[in-house]
Amino acid sequence: MLLTITTTHPPATELGYLLYKHPQRCQEFPLSFGTAHVFYPEATEERCTAALLLDIDPVRLVRGKPGATSQGGTLEQYVNDRPYVACSFLSVAISQVFGTAMTGRCQDRPELAQTAIPLLAKLTVLPCRGGEGFLRRLFEPLGYQVTAQHHLLDEEFPQWGQSQYFTVELQHNIRLCDLLSHLYVLIPVLDDEKHYWIGDDEVEKLLRHGEGWLTSHPAREQIISRYLKRQGRLIRNALLQLVEEDNPDPDSTEERHAQEEEAVEQPISLNQQRLDAVVAVLKQNGARRTIDLGCGEGKLLRILVKDSWFEKITGMDVSYRALEIAQERIERANLAPKQRERLQLIQGSLTYKDKRLTGYDCATAIEVIEHLDLPRLAVFERVLFEEAQPRTVIMTTPNIEYNIRFENLPAGKLRHKDHRFEWTRQQFQTWANQVAERFGYKVQFLPVGPEDPEVGSPTQMGVFALVI
Ligand code: SAH
Repeated sequence: MLLTITTTHPPATELGYLLYKHPQRCQEFPLSFGTAHVFYPEATEERCTAALLLDIDPVRLVRGKPGATSQGGTLEQYVNDRPYVACSFLSVAISQVFGTAMTGRCQDRPELAQTAIPLLAKLTVLPCRGGEGFLRRLFEPLGYQVTAQHHLLDEEFPQWGQSQYFTVELQHNIRLCDLLSHLYVLIPVLDDEKHYWIGDDEVEKLLRHGEGWLTSHPAREQIISRYLKRQGRLIRNALLQLVEEDNPDPDSTEERHAQEEEAVEQPISLNQQRLDAVVAVLKQNGARRTIDLGCGEGKLLRILVKDSWFEKITGMDVSYRALEIAQERIERANLAPKQRERLQLIQGSLTYKDKRLTGYDCATAIEVIEHLDLPRLAVFERVLFEEAQPRTVIMTTPNIEYNIRFENLPAGKLRHKDHRFEWTRQQFQTWANQVAERFGYKVQFLPVGPEDPEVGSPTQMGVFALVI
């Protein structure tokens, strides 16, 4: 069983840092069911491939296993496809051999580990119960370009038809940790067998590795059901937790993370400067009807609602809990009913089309995009710029270059634990320019907060204007 991961992100050999495996070494890792070998068939600045070869010992799989002799003593337990296909053994090997890479941490290249880079994973071979269609339904919604080569059951007897085995290539611009998590969860789902006992900790593993993408995956029910071997109680448990994730509730960790972010940024009262900058741009653009996407606890809304210049103000967030807090704080401001009427709060996700987002002069997304999973960003772009299509869009996001200037932020860390990424100025501008071009907008960039000659300002703002 062979998994290769290739990148062309220069210098490509830095893949070795991300995987914590030196490109010039061949390494062996003993596992309970065989040996994992890691080596690099190619390692140049332009292109680097890491290979994980699993050498499974079919005899060891059977010996000493309780009940081995009672399985009817057939040869099937020794002679089967397990040593040769990508299955749950591969998931175990990935988590044991590339465990740190899976968490998205990398001591030597922390920024690279959080960057989407061109990656190509090749699996030789993958059993796909459910066929190529199911394979595509699993990986394409996550943004992968899928190539699948179907293998005959026996090349000497083509009349026997196709097997369930495919050589699969998955290509995507993605963080390595996300690719590994997707493989970890989806390989056993395609294979639809598990070599070990499924217990409660499997639910926890599934949710941990599915964090950030499983909730919104269109095939999530099937993924969960197959991953948990169709055990009703566990499936219900997992679905329940996912639904809670969908409406992130009191999520006290999220609140704590937000406070931590504020503490990091507080010495320069960045939050206030950011809000002042947004209000100024809203007024310059005559945006009296404004929707704040990912409004959180309503910091911007509270300013807008007190200013009678604004005619209609809507706050939208996926988190019910955040909206409750926003509402409480707005009620506490004791506004006159006429003023209060101008504001409404709605719950929704920015990664789904939503008619309620249309009809505004301006949409703001203040410190929101970095909370979206990179694979979902393309959907958000369409939801906002193609469907809602306000005249003006104001977006802010951290400038990761500035992080080294925060005294209380450990090097290599992002400002908030829920940030899926933080971008350099170049990365944000490249993304924003390309989005503007695609959807018929012009974009301007403004620094927010004190500007450092070397690393720029702590917050970067993009102001998009629809070209009419
Ligand atoms: N704009 C606010 C909050 C920023 S924190 C402020 O400046 O204070 C990011 C917010 O985005 C959180 O409230 C989070 O719940 C929300 N969010 C994350 N993913 C979302 C999604 N898919 N749809 C809508 N809101 C989302």
